[in-house]
This record gives sequence, C-alpha cells and structure tokens, in this order.
Amino acid sequence: MDWKTCFTGKKILVAEDDPLGRELMRDILGLMNCSVQFAEDGNQVIEMYQKEPFDLIFMDIRMPNKDGISATKEIRAAEKDGKRVPIIALTASILDEDKKNCVKVGVDDFISKPILLDELRQKMAKYLVK
Ligand SMILES: [Mg+2]
Repeated sequence: MDWKTCFTGKKILVAEDDPLGRELMRDILGLMNCSVQFAEDGNQVIEMYQKEPFDLIFMDIRMPNKDGISATKEIRAAEKDGKRVPIIALTASILDEDKKNCVKVGVDDFISKPILLDELRQKMAKYLVK
C-alpha cells in the first residue's frame, strides 16, 4: 500500500491537549497528505464535529474540561442517518476498566502513546481504506 497517497485528502480531527502530541500528529498526518484539524479539549471536539464532517477522529482520553470518553459519548448520541465517524482513542496507558468504558461509549479502536508509525498507519487503513 502506498501510504503517501492512500490517505490523501482524508479529513482528520485530532483531539489532544498536549502541544507536543499535536505537533507530532501534525507532522505525521501531514506527510500522509491528510487534512488535519486540532481540538485541545472535549468541548472543542464537539464544536468542530458539529460544524463539519470528518473521516476519522483521534481522541485523547485524558483532556481538561471534557475528557475523551464524555466527548465520544456526545458524538455518538448526536449521530444520525446511520452515519458513524470512526473514533480511535489515544492513550498513554489504559486500564482494562478504562478500556471497557471507552468501548461502551463507542470508541472503535485504540492507539497507545508513544505513537508507533506502523500501528498508526495500520489502524488508519482499517477505517479509511475501503
Ligand atoms: Mg491528554
């Protein structure tokens, strides 16, 4: 698979409160020619999600104001017409209990931090390449 072209133009929303984490995702997703936007907390994610559709959301679980679990829950509740945006949680370390809660609110998948390029590409392909 040609990673430089298969994600070209995909609209990705990255929710991440850590500036370095955002920078890293900007660099990686930029190399993949994705169209990337950033949210710094759960409230911003909801705001941006309501404005326009995205092909994929990367959701940091631990964020101020509104965490990734609450934000995912709200997005799933707002979805209609059978549309469902893939949500991949970004997690530094996750307990089984947290993971269960993520799945319960509608998180589709997980990527552990520090982010490994191969894992990221594989998960993106799973949800973005038909
Ligand atoms: Mg965080």
